[in-house]
Amino acid sequence: MITTDELKAAQKRAGAMIQQARILMSEQEQENIQAADFGLSHLGKEGAQILTFVETERIGVKVIVLFPYQTLPEHWHPPVEHDPGKEESFRVVAGTLYFYLPGEDTLKEGFIPEGKEDCYTVRHEIIMKATDQITVEPGIKHWLQAGSDGAVMYSFSTCVRDVLDGFTDPNIVRTTKIVESS
Ligand code: ZN
Repeated sequence: MITTDELKAAQKRAGAMIQQARILMSEQEQENIQAADFGLSHLGKEGAQILTFVETERIGVKVIVLFPYQTLPEHWHPPVEHDPGKEESFRVVAGTLYFYLPGEDTLKEGFIPEGKEDCYTVRHEIIMKATDQITVEPGIKHWLQAGSDGAVMYSFSTCVRDVLDGFTDPNIVRTTKIVESS
């Protein structure tokens, strides 16, 4: 759950980071930046800001903004009917991104959010800077974290079905509830 004030602040901050990364967007697009708290209600720790450019039945093109030290929780994209699941490529435009995949535990620069050891199981660390990119095959667990300067990245993917994504943290709900600020 996030409040409308929190949402506005996150949109403004993410919008500024996107502009600084020299990605052009319209005012309307800036107003439509989404803040996802994954139902955990601590957006700044575990969450993401998402600007959608294209979302059709077949492809998705988005800009994902992570604030400094913000973590996008571990998840995977499961198969749906005849589709093997979402294939997703990330391309960093600005900042520092720590990307985690299955493999040898090399976690060093990033960190596991406090008290959430069980929710972050893949710990092969890849450090990404502007122009670095990576493709994640369907079904592969992954999570992302920004360094001290935050991170702005593109996400290019096949068909997006966020509500069907699997999360390691059993408390996660993909839909973000927004409540009026009091
Ligand atoms: Zn993903």
